[in-house]
Amino acid sequence: MSKDADLVINDRWIVSSRGRKNAVDPQKPYSWLVEKECTASGRIEDTAIIFLTNRECSFHCLMCDLWKNTTNRSVPVGAIPDQIEWALEQIPDVKHLKLYNSGSFFDERAIPAEDYKRIASLVSSFETVIVESHPRLINEKCLLFRDMLKPDLQIAVGLETVHPDILPKLNKQMTLDDFRNSISYLTQHGILSRAFVLLRPPFLSESEGIYWAERSIDFAFSVGVECCTVIPVRAGNGAMDLLMGKGHFAPPDIHSLEAVLEYGIRLNAGRVFADVWDSGLFSSCKKCIDQRTNRLIAMNLSQKIINQVKCTCVSPG
Ligand code: SF4
Ligand SMILES: [Zn+2]
Repeated sequence: MSKDADLVINDRWIVSSRGRKNAVDPQKPYSWLVEKECTASGRIEDTAIIFLTNRECSFHCLMCDLWKNTTNRSVPVGAIPDQIEWALEQIPDVKHLKLYNSGSFFDERAIPAEDYKRIASLVSSFETVIVESHPRLINEKCLLFRDMLKPDLQIAVGLETVHPDILPKLNKQMTLDDFRNSISYLTQHGILSRAFVLLRPPFLSESEGIYWAERSIDFAFSVGVECCTVIPVRAGNGAMDLLMGKGHFAPPDIHSLEAVLEYGIRLNAGRVFADVWDSGLFSSCKKCIDQRTNRLIAMNLSQKIINQVKCTCVSPG
């Protein structure tokens, strides 16, 4: 990929590259859905995801577009439990629940600790509750919340990439030691963790994207993560579009997502999922995109390698 000596990636540039936020209601989650997931015990079960509306994340990662559905100010105490209560009235009975808040659940400015008790009571009938957090916000607050919860707590943490030059460029304000320490803290306290791994962050070719996603999965499992989700990087947040225009970024191809998922499942070190949301963005072949997406979904659910799709399109790797 081309070089650009003048490019300074920092909070200011990332934020100034953004478009407008979507209108959100602090009393309602901005979305919810139910999807199937292969559980840690190997069963395929429904999992609900509530996308909570709250103050935007304090970090400004280069590839992140989660700020689009956030507020500028903290929501009042009680708003997050109200949102969960509202969503649970719509959601059918399922065993597992993800509470995703476009940032870190343990960020006090997003979800006040005063709300933990009511949240814990609202979700008491689930078997598992999964929240997300930046490694820097993994601390005794996780234990405080865990101790109030009846369901098992899992925490999803963005590893993104172990590439030594690219991780700092993502402006995540995290080192691999931060990630390792936060996972071992959770493990020591009996809390399972999952890692988000990026496929083809900026400044990498297609084949480098595959290589570093695989090394990132290796690292995540080596430090004790139970499950990895591979996320193909997309444009759309402003900064990524500018990088794409300068030739520093191109979205990965769905063939690469299939290759990385196959690699991860073959490791047999824990569950590995591919994020298939908007998978059409990652293919230029209309003939096989549906088959490839269905193959990824089938591999996500079975954690087994499924026969490859036959098509005239070739992997750009
Ligand atoms: S820490 Fe997570 S939510 Fe926050 S900006 Fe980075 S990727 Fe987005
Ligand atoms: Zn094809």
